[in-house]
Amino acid sequence: MNRAYIIKVTGLVQGVGFRPFVSRLASQWQLPGWVKNASDAVYICIQGPDTRLRKFIKTLITKAPVHAHVDSLEISIIPTRNDREAFSIEKSEEVATGITEISPDLAVCDECLKDIQNQAFRYHYPLVNCTHCGPRFSIIEKLPYDRINTSMHEFAMCEDCYDEYYDENNRRFHAQPVACNTCGPQLFLHTENGSIYDNESILDTLARIIDDGRVAALKGTGGYALVCDAWNRNAVDHLRKLKKRWSKPFALMVSDFEEAKKYFHISPEEASLLASSARPIALLRTKSVIPENLNAGLHTAGVMLPSMPLHYLLFEKLQSKVLVYTSGNISNEPIITDDGIACDAFIQKTQAVAGFNRRIINRCDDSVIQNTGNWTVMMRRSKGYAPAPVSCQIELEGILATGAYLNAAFCIGKKNHAIMSQYIGDLDNADTCLFYNEALERFKNLYRFTPEMVACDLHPAYHTSLLAASLGIPLIKVQHHHAHMAAVMAEYQTDGPVLGIVLDGTGLGTDQVLWGSEFLLAEHDQYQRLAHFEAFPLPGGEKAIENPERAALGLLWHYFGTKTDALPIPFLKKIPDSEKKILYNMLAKGINCPNTCGMGRYFDAAAALMGICSTHNFQAEAPMRLESMVRDEVKEAYDFGTGNIISLRPALEQMISDIEKSVCLSVIASKFHNTIIAACLYQIRTQIKQYGIKKVALTGGCFQNARLLQGIGKALLKDACKVYVPSKVPINDGGIALGQLYIAAKKRALCV
Ligand code: ZN
Ligand code: ZN
Ligand code: FE
Repeated sequence: MNRAYIIKVTGLVQGVGFRPFVSRLASQWQLPGWVKNASDAVYICIQGPDTRLRKFIKTLITKAPVHAHVDSLEISIIPTRNDREAFSIEKSEEVATGITEISPDLAVCDECLKDIQNQAFRYHYPLVNCTHCGPRFSIIEKLPYDRINTSMHEFAMCEDCYDEYYDENNRRFHAQPVACNTCGPQLFLHTENGSIYDNESILDTLARIIDDGRVAALKGTGGYALVCDAWNRNAVDHLRKLKKRWSKPFALMVSDFEEAKKYFHISPEEASLLASSARPIALLRTKSVIPENLNAGLHTAGVMLPSMPLHYLLFEKLQSKVLVYTSGNISNEPIITDDGIACDAFIQKTQAVAGFNRRIINRCDDSVIQNTGNWTVMMRRSKGYAPAPVSCQIELEGILATGAYLNAAFCIGKKNHAIMSQYIGDLDNADTCLFYNEALERFKNLYRFTPEMVACDLHPAYHTSLLAASLGIPLIKVQHHHAHMAAVMAEYQTDGPVLGIVLDGTGLGTDQVLWGSEFLLAEHDQYQRLAHFEAFPLPGGEKAIENPERAALGLLWHYFGTKTDALPIPFLKKIPDSEKKILYNMLAKGINCPNTCGMGRYFDAAAALMGICSTHNFQAEAPMRLESMVRDEVKEAYDFGTGNIISLRPALEQMISDIEKSVCLSVIASKFHNTIIAACLYQIRTQIKQYGIKKVALTGGCFQNARLLQGIGKALLKDACKVYVPSKVPINDGGIALGQLYIAAKKRALCV
């Protein structure tokens, strides 16, 4: 029997070759009708014998293109018509408030890499793409995803591209950013001596500049990068100077796997992450020491593989196989996306600015992930991941969550989808705050989103809290660590009750103490703080976070008071007397010494006591250095208190004695890690017993420390616990907006 249907398909179905796939399927089974993109879904009209239609619908889900996923199919029966003969792709449609998912940017596929060698009109074309690969989020201005709504609308297709675009058997059938040497965006290279616009000479010149040990600015999918030969000491030093980034580790781009394996340990999980279409920077363990000006002497380095055809073409010409590939910005400012601004900023300071005239609409940094063995942890979520939504089983529409302060990102609710913005950065400078505001406006337009309710951090002075308060809509303030935990609950779709260990830098508590070592019991929108490490005074408060020696002094003062200065630790002798006098005075009188129990501050204090790091040159330097020193064979730990306010006094005394005895620092660092792991396990096991709950969430910035995560997480798995670790959104404050959004939605649902 003949039937006709209208099928509404939602999910990630635009920008991933879904319509061409539908069209091919329909033609294959000779089913007439049409398919079209609308801003809220893909619609299919299809007619034919019942049995074939059923197969067609089943195949829609089971054989969808690799990067697509179907969330829902709504099928309505319509009258059959005799005039439906062929199958076609129709013009797109606008639907008032509905939206479809927007695909993240996708790294170049293998077929396209072959095309730039074999297709005459695409020979060495550096921006080739198809329905399986290429820019997406970075070029989209509005929905539906059609060329006209992207920065590709400025380029009219040539006949060759046009033929492919309309050939349903072609991989580029309806590939919106389709382009070639004739019609697509073109490369440019500006130097102080002039400009070049010819691809081959650009690649040759650029390769020569880099191989000669000079620095170049190079436009990527989501913004400019600064690149140089990683093994050239002078080049790297020059790059540090011009970026004003004195010691923070640089990300590296390595030509291919074989080359990467020479310097880094790569597990099968890491290999598949590196090669995935998101092409993130993966934090890998180094095989032997690499130059200190690359990774600050740590045991890991951030490594990525080429992602754009442009990168592959450049490596073909380069002698250098390993490049520093760092975001094109100065210090902490947002990565530059505009060609003019890039020229102004870099032409004097580098030897070349190379790019292409395809505009970047949505700025995206490279994403950063780390696989710790059992878990893959997101550290920076941007290119290749944003703006993929997290699906929740609760209505989220109209809720905005503004996030926190460091690694900021916001989150908006569309139906049951939580859509996280790309990584924005630390909101400690005007340009990054501006980027935050711009990105929010962009998301509001792109997703036709009007905030009706807003959630933010408890901290009153964050840019994100001020912005939330200025909106004049119902406002929900969410405690920082509760938000961390709720983000995990949202990702795993559990209402609890769940126990959680949140080890973090700093977040304002409900008692004005700077929390950050929290043992929580969370359920729906509620939480109880069951335990935490003991709080100690931090002279100078949040501003002192850059000075681990202040955390150390505060911790010592907390336990030893006026006897602190007599302790036999060399670190105390290094602080000038005049400075110490002021700090002791502040501590004695409690002037500007808020209490903190942040685990990050404990790590800072330990590193400073050991003389490893007294001032942070980059965020979390002290904890990272401490982690780098840990040795597997050291199994001992220091003693700790077993109360629900965990005291590290015994540990501190034993550590000081180890320092006095000049015990090897790597042994002390290992024992310190083991102590924190043991204390956390003791505490959480007590709670597991008491509450009979075997679900445990591990989150917060300190869990970027692979030792802590593996140490605590693996032991809990052995205890037959279910361990939740965030993987879709960052484990640090970059993921906090999801938790805020989820709590606001839960509270709203309870009010209705
Ligand atoms: Zn491709
Ligand atoms: Zn063309
Ligand atoms: Fe945090």
